[in-house]
Amino acid sequence: MSSYPARAVVDLAAIRANTAALLDHAGGADVMAVVKADGYGHGLVPVAHAALAGGARWLGVAQADEALALRAAGVDARVLSWLHTPSTPFAALVDADVDVSVAADWALRGVLEGARASGRTARVHVKVDTGLGRNGVVPEGLEPLLRDALAAEAEGACRVVGLWSHLAWADAPDHPTVRRQAEVFDDAVRLAERLGARLEVRHLANSAATLTDAAMRYDLVRPGIAVYGLSPVPQVGGPADFGLTPAMRLEADLALTKEVPAGHGVSYAHAYTTPTRTVLGLVPVGYADGIPRHASGSEGRTGAPVQVAGRRLGIAGRVCMDQFVVDLGPGAREVAGDAVVLFGSGADGSPTAQDWADAAGTISYEIVTRLGARVPRTYVGGER
Ligand SMILES: *Cc1c(COP(=O)(O)O)cnc(C)c1O
Repeated sequence: MSSYPARAVVDLAAIRANTAALLDHAGGADVMAVVKADGYGHGLVPVAHAALAGGARWLGVAQADEALALRAAGVDARVLSWLHTPSTPFAALVDADVDVSVAADWALRGVLEGARASGRTARVHVKVDTGLGRNGVVPEGLEPLLRDALAAEAEGACRVVGLWSHLAWADAPDHPTVRRQAEVFDDAVRLAERLGARLEVRHLANSAATLTDAAMRYDLVRPGIAVYGLSPVPQVGGPADFGLTPAMRLEADLALTKEVPAGHGVSYAHAYTTPTRTVLGLVPVGYADGIPRHASGSEGRTGAPVQVAGRRLGIAGRVCMDQFVVDLGPGAREVAGDAVVLFGSGADGSPTAQDWADAAGTISYEIVTRLGARVPRTYVGGER
């Protein structure tokens, strides 16, 4: 057991249930649970097992190392890895039976060399940039890339199993680019099929599109944030509106409490001054743990919310590297060791990762994903 005075408690039963809910939202499509970035901070391998137990048939990761870590942990589901560079260990990916995204000719060459080296047939998903302007081959470059990939398929070196893309504005479901990207994607699918591709999966939807737009489902959806029970479209609905439950609760133990007089400056630069005689509580997590410094309080305004013994309080003054302070209020009776909930499911009145995102001017994705490596993850709700 770690002695660290904070912990992220991850509810694997919530991950399973969220995945099952996403399977419902997906209609007949399969679910690829996106577990990149250490399962959005929740822990790669435990999350992967929970998502598979909840009905996901695929796992998605950005980095080759993440795919190989899943295999090393004995996860044998279909895994797609998609963010590659010329130094990506394509042979190791193919050898580990990982599906590989290809968005450029050098990546196709790398995959084919990897297939030759490992003696296996590589499974390729060609990624097309339908308008996000990020990864993917531009539509004009799709035909030559597909022709090369299909020529390699004819020689048995690879199978072109997937065609895929990613949306720019899925979190604004009515944005005209969503429909436009789907049209460009449909053209790309038609081109691939005309060139002889026998696609197993066409996939476009992230969490937002899975939850809000049935036309985006195709054969496979790729939800990430929703697997963890957070809403990708907070302006449309919260987790409960989509049948989701936030899976992570972040708690810390108070390191110190003390009574101070009115007018006491708190933390660096005295961005908070006690309005009355009061009790301060010291929370031993800071930006080294992923607590955003932007969640600090400023003069006249407390920062991100925390819950102490059922009371909703805000950060007093600056978030530091390892710690921040809360004003527990006059006469507060908390003592060192008492628990503070930074965020949780919200069901018990706790603040949520969305509340933290609002306080820090960011998105809930960043709140959970940036959680520092030194915060231990503990798991509840494992194996039924
Ligand atoms: C991260 C990512 C996803 C998942 O996105 P969410 O918004 O978390 O559902 C899906 N596809 C790609 C290509 C991604 O990079």
